[in-house]
Amino acid sequence: MSATKTAYLLLGSNLGDRAALLREARAYLAATAGEIAAASALYETAAWGREDQPAFLNQALALRTTLPPGLLLAHCLAAEQHAGRERSERWGSRTLDVDILLYGSEIIDQPGLTVPHPRLAERRFALVPLAEIGGQVQHPVLGLTVAELLARCPDPLPVQPWLEEQL
Ligand code: AMP
Repeated sequence: MSATKTAYLLLGSNLGDRAALLREARAYLAATAGEIAAASALYETAAWGREDQPAFLNQALALRTTLPPGLLLAHCLAAEQHAGRERSERWGSRTLDVDILLYGSEIIDQPGLTVPHPRLAERRFALVPLAEIGGQVQHPVLGLTVAELLARCPDPLPVQPWLEEQL
């Protein structure tokens, strides 16, 4: 069996009961992929570059896993399919998106899987929840911590803490 690693994942949803879909995704990943060691709050962000789409809810997870990265990705994609029942035809909207942001300090560049996630440093909606649970984690390519990347992030889209009672 492989050594246990901490992978950081980003969950996102902008269709249906977004908070429930994120809750189901956590349960699915905990049952299939590893132990959720930490979970950020939920944050809401306007859909990137698409004002005609509903806003996203995002959440970062720290997952303790023995799965190698390719298998972990397979479970992330299975979690998306599990939530796919409510997928609409609208381009770009999705019931569930699961990205691998970091996998320990590994640098992975293989067909269909790039880790650290190539757009992590440019996306405030990923960095804000990730910084909440892993601010001191080092980005193995850029050599900066997540908190430092957030402080330098040029993305202007506001990322707001989301409270269920706002609905
Ligand atoms: P998207 O739904 O736009 O996030 O794209 C999903 C696809 O991106 C997956 O089928 C993966 O093969 C690919 N991919 C590449 N790197 C990653 C990563 N770090 N995390 C999740 N998906 C990735």
